[in-house]
Formats: sequence, structure tokens, C-alpha cells
Amino acid sequence: MTMPLIIPIFIMHRGCPHRCTFCDQQKAAGPYPDDVSETFFRQTVLSHLQHIKKKPDQVQIAFYGGNFTGMPRQDQTRLLKYAQPFLEAGGVSALRISTRPDCLDKERLDFLKEYGVQIVEIGAQSLVDDVLRRAERGHTAGNVDAAVQLLKANGFEVGVHLMAGMPGDSPEGFARSVARTIAMQPHTVRIHPTLVFTGTPLERDHRNGSYEPLTLDEAVLLCKSALLKFTAAGIPVIRIGLQTTPEMEKRGTVIAGPYHPAFRFLVEASIFFDRAASLLSRGDFQEKAVVFSVCPKEQSAFRGLKNENVRKLQNRFGLSGIRVVPDPAQPAGTLHVHCDI
Ligand code: SF4
Repeated sequence: MTMPLIIPIFIMHRGCPHRCTFCDQQKAAGPYPDDVSETFFRQTVLSHLQHIKKKPDQVQIAFYGGNFTGMPRQDQTRLLKYAQPFLEAGGVSALRISTRPDCLDKERLDFLKEYGVQIVEIGAQSLVDDVLRRAERGHTAGNVDAAVQLLKANGFEVGVHLMAGMPGDSPEGFARSVARTIAMQPHTVRIHPTLVFTGTPLERDHRNGSYEPLTLDEAVLLCKSALLKFTAAGIPVIRIGLQTTPEMEKRGTVIAGPYHPAFRFLVEASIFFDRAASLLSRGDFQEKAVVFSVCPKEQSAFRGLKNENVRKLQNRFGLSGIRVVPDPAQPAGTLHVHCDI
């Protein structure tokens, strides 16, 4: 099955017990209304549905950008009711929400199920208690474990969000978060590097020198390692890097941190670079021209941004040339290299 088309509705910090130090949904998601009206909801969903070019297997409506199950019950009911006509008409197949791990219990799950919510994404961010404390998350790694198990036991599809480069985190700490997430066996994962949004407590910490964000290279390295581990564990990583919005692209919105509009592409290109380098280091290709066969849909990730991988490989291994040949017989995620005769 292909990835579902997800129609996001941002609820803008609704239900959040407080602000986590790094978070500003207005900056990350853009100018959404503080309260989602039925008219706004309908228009947003219809405009997404009208612009679908090739119908995916599944269309889902997602309530993101806040703590859904932390909202008063009447607000949850109101929003979920807006979605019911789309579910009944069949244009939308399921609802998903994102929420905090400490705002779930059996009663809340029964309520969500009644309204067609099938997927719950947990904002974990880290599975290291000291890191969670420093970001003022207000929950523990144990809460995440418990939430994931409860959701799975009640038949929900579960997603877990992780962040690289959180205040007080380290590469080892992030690796522990990845390992603990794999042990929980969620259905999907999202990862994004921590960015410093203007106006957040994290901006203050950055300006007073108590928080230094990851560089872009460090963020790519950490997320690459996480992607490889999740993939090996059979857990799809459905997003790497925050969704780029016009708001984020505005000057002064992200004041520091490894922001890149094609962050996932950088991570995947880095994986291909490593694979190609490993193949080249096993043979004698010095001063020779080589041909790489790649799966056609991975050709651009192999080349890297502006052909950077090809240039770097050529320089590092002293090659006289590299030809990249898209080969439908080459399995995805693999490469073959031989001399160009
Ligand atoms: S990270 Fe989640 S819980 Fe924290 S302020 Fe942002 S939306 Fe709310």
C-alpha cells in the first residue's frame, strides 16, 4: 500500500498544558486560526480533495499541532464531528491525531475509536528523561512506553515523533531514544532536527549560550543513523524534517538550527554516498571511469544535491569519470558499480 494522503488540520497548541521550550506551532505550521470552525475545516479538506491528481489508496484527516486528547471533550467532539461527513461519504478513510503520551487512557481511546480515529501519533521527542525535563515536556520516557503499549493493545496504529538535537541531548542519548523506540515497535516514526524558532524559550537559551543547535551535517548524520536503524527494524520513517511552510521560509522565523527545505533528501543522499564509497573502497578504481547502476526512482538521491555525491566520490577515489545509469532491474536501496569500458 502507498503512503496515505494526509490532510492536516492544525489545532494550534490547543490542549497543551504548557509550552515546551522549542515549540511554536504558529511559526512551524503557519497562520492557522486559533480555533478551527466548521467552515474552515470543510474548506481545507475540500481544497485538498479537489487537488488530488492521482487518488492514493487512503486519504486521512489529521489533527496536528497541539495535544488533541488534552482539549476539553466538547472541543474534541466538535472537531471529530466536522470530519464525519467525509468519512461517511467515503472520500476520507480514517482520522489521525497527534497527542501527548501522558494524555491517553482507555476511556479516551474508546471515545476516539467511536469517531473513526484509527491512528494516534505520540509526541515523544526523546526517550531520555533528563532531555525531556530540560525541554519542559512534563512527561517521562515511561509515559511514552505506556502510551504506545496502550494504543497497540486497543488496536490503534501508532506513530512516534522523535527530535534530534534537543537541549541536553547527545548523539548517544539520541541513539538510546531510537533503540527504545524500536523496542516499542510503533507502526511508524517521524524524526526532525530541533530548530530554534524566534520567540521561544529555546531562542533565549541559544542567545545566552546555554543551547547550541546541531549543525546541518550533524543533524544529517544523526537522522541517517536513525533512518537506517528504523528501516532495518522494519519501521517506516514517514517523515524526516519538518514540513516546510511559507512561514518557516520567512526570514527571522528559524533563527538557528539545521533547517533545510529538503532535509530528508540530504539524509537519503548521504546514505547513498556511504554505499557508493563502500563499494568503491573494495575495488581498484583509481583513475578509472566507473558506471553506477541505480534503481531509477533513486537516481537523484544517488547524485545528491546539485550532483554533489558524484563530485565528492570522483575526488575522493581519484576517478576519471562517473556515469549513473538508471536500471529498472536494480533493487531499491542497492547499487552496482563496474568499470566503464
Ligand atoms: S510540543 Fe506538543 S505538547 Fe509541547 S507545546 Fe508543542 S504542540 Fe504542545
